[in-house]
Amino acid sequence: MEQKCLKEEIAGLEFASGIPGTIGGAIRMNAGAHGRKMKVVLENLTKKFQNRNRKDKKDVIAVDDFNLEIPDGKLVGLLGPSGCGKSTMLYMISGLLTPTEGKIYFGENDVTKVPTENRGVGLVFQNYALYPHLTVKQNIIFPLQNLKGKDKLTKEEMDKRAYNAAKIVQIDEFLDRKPNALSGGQQQRVAIARALVKMPPVLLLDEPLSNLDARLRLQTREEIRRIQRETGITTIFVTHDQEEAMSISDIIIVMKDGRMQQVGRPQEVYDNPVNLFVAKFLGTPPINVFNGYVKNEKLYIGKDELFAVQGVSDREVYVGIRPEGFVPEDSGKLHCKMERIEIMGRDISIVSQNDDSVNPVVRSIITNDRVIDGTREEVAFNLKPSKVLIFDKEMEERIRYGEK
Ligand code: ATP
Repeated sequence: MEQKCLKEEIAGLEFASGIPGTIGGAIRMNAGAHGRKMKVVLENLTKKFQNRNRKDKKDVIAVDDFNLEIPDGKLVGLLGPSGCGKSTMLYMISGLLTPTEGKIYFGENDVTKVPTENRGVGLVFQNYALYPHLTVKQNIIFPLQNLKGKDKLTKEEMDKRAYNAAKIVQIDEFLDRKPNALSGGQQQRVAIARALVKMPPVLLLDEPLSNLDARLRLQTREEIRRIQRETGITTIFVTHDQEEAMSISDIIIVMKDGRMQQVGRPQEVYDNPVNLFVAKFLGTPPINVFNGYVKNEKLYIGKDELFAVQGVSDREVYVGIRPEGFVPEDSGKLHCKMERIEIMGRDISIVSQNDDSVNPVVRSIITNDRVIDGTREEVAFNLKPSKVLIFDKEMEERIRYGEK
């Protein structure tokens, strides 16, 4: 029922006005149910900034030769640590920044030089940037007031669109309030409605949840997912929060130092990271990393022989073990010093130490139906091989083993 209503509201949004055939004459948008879907293609995209540090004359390469096709109608999470180039990437896609090199296509259209206002993107930033002196409705209508020529809308059309956009994000009852009379989550939803009101083919969200408290964050991210699913707008969502990106994205892109590390479905990337950086970046608690080695096709951490790694030559490696990959058993192969047990409701975390651990502690997660004696001196673990990943020490790239 709720779904049906939402579909009707969206249909209302589509037919509320004389749908722009072109926005600023640059990009064609269809009025059909799937007309707003748009793939985004990035070709050799690079952005260099002049270094602000006078002593260092080298340019800052914020985005470095990025190649990617974002399929239409998907929610893509752009993920990476602070300073890796996420915002720069989003601003180039939006037209707020001009690439130093490379091209951006929306569908088949090269939009690299098309200004933001003609690009047909909806933008939502971390700070909602609402006009405090305008009501919610006036804030939402704002982007429609600048439409010109045959895209120009009557007041009634603008009101109808604002109402429909507000209904999608469930703030229609607050249309006459000023932003300061709304909660942070409600303000953020106004910002999303304002981005949706022009029916953009591409929606760009830059850390839209960072100003919200934990509960509201969770709720709003689910809301964004719902809105994206229902509208089918190709959406790029920038965050440094891996859990957030993994939970709502169809596809995640992991970036480091301006370069793409990996792209794929969240579970795929979690299970099969291409390198240690990606393995460490995804997962809470994070993957446990050990100094290990391979000898005679067997994997070792210290003196503990773990299992056979077919086809891997003798060498030193990093061994990454996901917290859920440990099975505490007296016959276990990996021996650690017991530190403590932490009970976390549904799960138990066994915190232990190992001389070869790169992290200060080894953290394993098991379900709370196991009884573990936290007073013992030692704990031994068998390991689930699918949760054990090995990486070469030099380039930190994944080494695959036992695969045909
Ligand atoms: P955060 O998560 O902290 O917002 P980010 O991943 O979005 O970071 P960007 O803001 O895209 O990162 O910055 C990427 C790199 O480019 C950083 O090293 C940053 O210092 C640099 N940078 C960004 N804008 C400029 C600018 N206008 N001039 C010079 N350097 C810049």
